[in-house]
Amino acid sequence: MNAPRPDRSSSQRRRSSAAFARARDLIPGGVNSPARAFGAVGGEPIFISAAQGQRLTDIDGNTYLDYIGSWGPMILGHRHPRVVAAIEAALARGTSYGAPTEAESRLAELIIAAVPSVEKVRMVSSGTEAAMSAVRLARGFTHREKIVKFSGNYHGHADSLLVAAGSSAATLGVPDSPGVTAGTARDTVVLDYNEPAQLEEAFRAGGDTIAAVLMEPVVGNMGLVMPTAEFLAAARRLTHEHGAVLVFDEVMTGFRLAPGGAQELLGVTPDLTTLGKIVGGGLPLGAYGGRREIMDHVLPAGKVFQAGTLSGNPLAVAAGTATLEELRDHPPYASLERLGTRLEEGWRAAAARHGVPAWIARAGSMMTMFLQAGPDVVPVTGWTTASRSATARYAEFFWGMMDRGVYLPCSQYEALFISAAHDTDDIDATIAAADAVLAAV
Ligand SMILES: *Cc1c(COP(=O)(O)O)cnc(C)c1O
Repeated sequence: MNAPRPDRSSSQRRRSSAAFARARDLIPGGVNSPARAFGAVGGEPIFISAAQGQRLTDIDGNTYLDYIGSWGPMILGHRHPRVVAAIEAALARGTSYGAPTEAESRLAELIIAAVPSVEKVRMVSSGTEAAMSAVRLARGFTHREKIVKFSGNYHGHADSLLVAAGSSAATLGVPDSPGVTAGTARDTVVLDYNEPAQLEEAFRAGGDTIAAVLMEPVVGNMGLVMPTAEFLAAARRLTHEHGAVLVFDEVMTGFRLAPGGAQELLGVTPDLTTLGKIVGGGLPLGAYGGRREIMDHVLPAGKVFQAGTLSGNPLAVAAGTATLEELRDHPPYASLERLGTRLEEGWRAAAARHGVPAWIARAGSMMTMFLQAGPDVVPVTGWTTASRSATARYAEFFWGMMDRGVYLPCSQYEALFISAAHDTDDIDATIAAADAVLAAV
């Protein structure tokens, strides 16, 4: 197999390289969100000039099959005609009013109809805001201060959620970033995912101080990790028994795994749900919703403050509404499951053929291939096992795929996304590319 060596400063990416040098002078690290900088795989990011359907074009004129989909929102692919038309129609009527519109109620109705736990919903401008607001609401509702989160789960960059922990059992949070105070971090209890005994112990020790348990019901942010039924059941039972609020962060999984998100798929109904990504159809929009009794504590119905100049922005609401209507009218989920199965089986066979130890996890159109050091394949059930991945191997895999025109997540610890615009030929090309690349890693 004479696969070319991954060339991280390929002459085919000269313009991107120059654009990155300029951007680094102007913008910290050259990017407006750190994952875009390709830091986890070494090398330099490509700069995008356009996107259409399942493809991205960079400023050097290369095209790539896109498996990032803007990190989740683009389930219909780029520039879906229905979404483009809705944005154009909204644009013709103005871009922001700072006053209510009927369109917001229409989007709220679509969300409430689709997501089992949501009886009332408030719109914000990002997933970060949704998670931050849900935590404040849970604290305001319960008059308690502590929140429980799980290592390897990402809930945006609000201070109290930028807290991770080692792999040890119940740990009091340590800030994950300079600028997050120890005082803030102390109110966040970090536990291991899929360890119901730790959750049991945390509630036994301080159940009357815990306002909320916040979790990704299917994790996408340490690579894809599925929850066990026991873990989910424990989270639901313990929060209920102790009067804490169970918050499912479905910013990534909402409308991705099923119309009602992971909670529909798994049959577990939380008290609050956060949404983002797909709900905005590629524009900045997030939302949090849940039981009426809890949501009515949000100002001005209740006393928990939360506001936003651009909340419920007409362009974002139009894009989100068109996306959710398209997903309702032409559900892609069965076809995404078929494409996902095909990709999973193709990559698993390729890894086995070339003796590369790999744990492949998939839920519908989300998937991660964890490359490992071997010799045995270790199931990935949480951050402890995920963090043992052979990340240098993943970097090689990533660049090999880039050189073959496949744009994968630029980190081992992110899930890839298949969109409704991908077809069987795209999947087969992606399997063939992986087969060639895995032969060389
Ligand atoms: C992306 C993400 C967020 C943050 O959303 P932003 O819109 O980037 O602020 C929060 N939670 C989860 C699960 C996410 O995947």
